Amino acid sequence: MRLDKFLSHTGFGSRKEVKELLKKKRVTVNGEVVKEAKYLVDELSDSVCVDGENILYEKFVYYMLNKPKGVISATEDTSSRTVIDLIKKEDYKKGLFPVGRLDKDTTGLLLLTNDGALAHELLSPKKKVPKLYQALVQGKMTDEDIDIFSKGVIRLDGDECLPAKLTILSIDEKKEQSIIQLEIMEGKYHQVKRMVDAVGKKVIELERLEMANLKLDENLAQGKYRTLTEIEKEKLK
Ligand code: URA
Repeated sequence: MRLDKFLSHTGFGSRKEVKELLKKKRVTVNGEVVKEAKYLVDELSDSVCVDGENILYEKFVYYMLNKPKGVISATEDTSSRTVIDLIKKEDYKKGLFPVGRLDKDTTGLLLLTNDGALAHELLSPKKKVPKLYQALVQGKMTDEDIDIFSKGVIRLDGDECLPAKLTILSIDEKKEQSIIQLEIMEGKYHQVKRMVDAVGKKVIELERLEMANLKLDENLAQGKYRTLTEIEKEKLK
C-alpha cells in the first residue's frame, strides 16, 4: 500500500497532514528516510517509523465507548456533536462508525469500528443479537408486564416484538418509579421506550449495559472509550 495511505490509516491524519510529515523527514521505512507519498510499503513486513517510533498496521479498530447524553450516534451532523467527535485524532481511522444507534439521551455501551463486516453481522435482524438495557421508569412495572414482554405481544411498526426479558430491580413506591433491566433481540427505533410506553409507563433514563457478549466496562466514565481486548474481540465473532 502507499506510504501516505499507511500513515493515514494508522492515525497520522489526512493525506495532506501525512505529506507534511514526509516532507519534514520524520518517516523512515526499514531505517531509510522516505519522502515520497506514493512509496509502496508492505504493511506486514516493512518497518515504518515516525520520529523513530515503530508504527504497527492494524486494519480494523474496535472501540468500546460509554456514550454520554447529548451526542448523536452518527458519523457527522450539522448541528450536534457525534460519537465520532469523542474519538481522539490519533485513534481515528477512516471509515470509523458506530455499530447501531443509541438515542441522543441514552447512555452506555456503544461499539465503534471500521470493520463493516462485523457491524453487519451484529446489526442483522436475523442474528438476533441480545442487547441489555437498564432504565429508570416513571410508573410501577408489574409481573403482568414481565409476562407481556416475554410473550412478545407488543406491536411496534406493525409487527409483534420478539420475546424480551424484563427484570424489575426495584420499585420506589413513593415516587412511583421502577428500575428495570430489559433484554431485547432487535433494534427497532426507540424500542425500549416504546415497549415501556405500550404498558402505560415512561422511560426517564436509559443506559445500555451489554451488546452481544460485550459488557460495558464499569471503569469507563461517560464520554470515554477504550480498545476492545483480544478476548472481547473474539467473543464478538
Ligand atoms: N431503545 C430506545 O428506546 N432507545 C435507545 O437508545 C436504545 C434502545
